[in-house]
Amino acid sequence: MATLRFKVVEDAIKRKALDVPAPEKRPSEYYGMYVFNEEKMRKYLPQKTYEALLETMKHGKALARDLADSVASGMRQWAMDMGATHYTHWFQPLTGGTAEKHDAFIEPDGQGGVIEEFSGKLLIQQEPDASSFPNGGIRNTFEARGYSAWDATSPAFIVGTTLCVPTIFIAYTGEALDFKVPLLRSLEAVDKASVAVCQYFDATVGKVHSYLGWEQEYFLVDEGLWAARPDLMLTGRTLIGHESAKNQQLEDHYFGAIPTRVMAFMKELEYECWKLGIPVKTRHNEVAPNQFELAPVYEEANLANDHNLLLMSTIKRICRKHCFRALLHEKPFKGINGSGKHCNWSLGTDTGVNLLSPGKTPKNNLQFITFLVNVMMAVYKYNGLLKASIVNATNAHRLGANEAPPAIISVFLGRQLSEALDKMSSCTGQDEIVFNGESGFKMEGIPHIPELLLDNTDRNRTSPFAFTGNRFEFRAVGSSANCAGAMTVLNAAVADQLTEFKTAVDARIRNGEDAMKAIYTVLKGYVRECKAIHFDGNGYTEEWKAEAARRGLDCTVSAPEMFDRYLASESVEMFERTHVLSKKELEARVEVMWETYTKKIQIEARVLGDMAMNHILPVASGYESVLLDKIFKLQSLFTDDQWKKLSARDIALVENISGHIAEIQNLTIRMVDARKVANKIDCERTKAVAYHDTVVGLLDEIRYHVDKLEQVVDNEQWPLPKYRELLFIR
Ligand code: ADP
Ligand code: MG
Repeated sequence: MATLRFKVVEDAIKRKALDVPAPEKRPSEYYGMYVFNEEKMRKYLPQKTYEALLETMKHGKALARDLADSVASGMRQWAMDMGATHYTHWFQPLTGGTAEKHDAFIEPDGQGGVIEEFSGKLLIQQEPDASSFPNGGIRNTFEARGYSAWDATSPAFIVGTTLCVPTIFIAYTGEALDFKVPLLRSLEAVDKASVAVCQYFDATVGKVHSYLGWEQEYFLVDEGLWAARPDLMLTGRTLIGHESAKNQQLEDHYFGAIPTRVMAFMKELEYECWKLGIPVKTRHNEVAPNQFELAPVYEEANLANDHNLLLMSTIKRICRKHCFRALLHEKPFKGINGSGKHCNWSLGTDTGVNLLSPGKTPKNNLQFITFLVNVMMAVYKYNGLLKASIVNATNAHRLGANEAPPAIISVFLGRQLSEALDKMSSCTGQDEIVFNGESGFKMEGIPHIPELLLDNTDRNRTSPFAFTGNRFEFRAVGSSANCAGAMTVLNAAVADQLTEFKTAVDARIRNGEDAMKAIYTVLKGYVRECKAIHFDGNGYTEEWKAEAARRGLDCTVSAPEMFDRYLASESVEMFERTHVLSKKELEARVEVMWETYTKKIQIEARVLGDMAMNHILPVASGYESVLLDKIFKLQSLFTDDQWKKLSARDIALVENISGHIAEIQNLTIRMVDARKVANKIDCERTKAVAYHDTVVGLLDEIRYHVDKLEQVVDNEQWPLPKYRELLFIR
């Protein structure tokens, strides 16, 4: 009998929900207690330092060096009052997760003892070495050190007994080695470009923020079951496993009552998030069994992204207390829904206007249409690049599968807005804009958009980039991703597009055209130009794939080939114009993408090879022997005719099992050979393409035969927790 499997199943069934008492105070009273926020700054910093730091946080002004000591000292005092003993620079290397290296707050006092110390210098900048993080060749020379530097716009926080200071991570030579630097640069670019365009409508706009509201999907699996699955443990997904007879067909999990053990975990997670100042608000069961979702109130994109990364590590930390493991992988289970991380994105001014929200007056509506259409243009021009920003070895399993956006980027607008734009682009009259004095003018094609949008409820779930009333929802982002990858490309592309738009409008104004008329005319041209990106239909169909190809949209499906989009000359130029990423940085990043892709597939291939040969085949052969034994014993008891009749089914089963075993052996050898060939390739791109073209397919083929064996081999002997156990025990 497969002892480990049955033991972990038995343990898992017996587990009870933990008792998670609610904090004694109300959320509003303990919200942000682990964060060095304004309230703590006021309490722990001298007035002058407090004001300067606030200025830095709110307006991105550089903090004078001499104030850094004062900030650091106040921060340390607060952290120690909270029981912290260590501090760390918390950064986001290209691995996708976060990194930290803890140092104690102690310094020798020169007399054999220590004093608690945290200087401004240590707060502002450190050299964590961290040379093993992927850098794509930027740090190949010995002097190319890596530095982490404080991002004062995101507040420090405490996890356990460690003060975490959000930082950027850059090379000695200034190149970005992380996700935060390009994100911050793109936010700066989109701020500048948007403010310039806003001036046409409102001269008092001084800053435009990019907002992000993510929705994090994840699976929970009992820890014991997880530990009995080498594939879950090492790759985050099941490489084999036959579908459970029941999975999500009945859709009875979606929005259903949250199981008690999970509820206890969610409660604790929420309390912890609120203490960390993460404004989580929504929780529910997702479509697949054991799949859940958590979403906060949206925030400024840099902070929202830090909060998402912090949330992912908090989920992993808290779920262990409840004997769960969280799967953040995009596709942990075959045949049921995968997990995404919808990124709700919008732009808003410091005057409180959401630029993607239809206004009340025609003028506000023209501003809304301006931003809407420019976003569409940006997505149109860079649809391949945007796809590259969300694809990787793990999300590739989700894209194009039946529950996820297809591997083609298109924009959904909804019926009313589509009609308004259609009307706008087909208007031919000269009197499109009727001016009735400064405040009131009328535009054909964009009449009463706000009223129209109020009943705009036709939410299209199949679109990778959907307009949802006052924001765009970038749905193709994967659940395990650092959202900064996608948000950087989106903000940069929109910034560049807005700048181009302004140049075109200004040229017309210089030629004596009225500003509003010039804006309208340029936009009208754009609506016609970017028609191909607009698709309101069902993105899951085969017809759409063909149609998208006809429209000239990027239909590449191979992840390593999609990464090429970063290095296309129009992308490089766009990133350089917006100062978001230099060519050198782009090359390094893409090198890392290829390298990471190869490594992930390589690990999966090794794990599957091991599982197939060492876990599955011995069990299948063992069961085959039992059958053979029975067949021979029957032969000694019965006449030939009787025996043939009685053992026909067993003989067929032996044949079936032998066939699958032989296939698994052959395919595994072929997979090892394919890896050997690929591993000899020096060029990272060629190697990644080879892994994609020659190894990935074999993973599926081997799985097919293993899953067939799972259906026929004695359940008592099957060594790995089955799908029904992984998905329904909670
Ligand atoms: P749904 O599942 O229907 O898409 P959710 O409520 O789960 O909706 O998630 C919506 C997310 O969008 C939340 O994080 C919310 O804060 C965010 N959001 C709402 N308005 C905006 C906006 N203007 N800009 C960015 N994000 C927004
Ligand atoms: Mg959503």
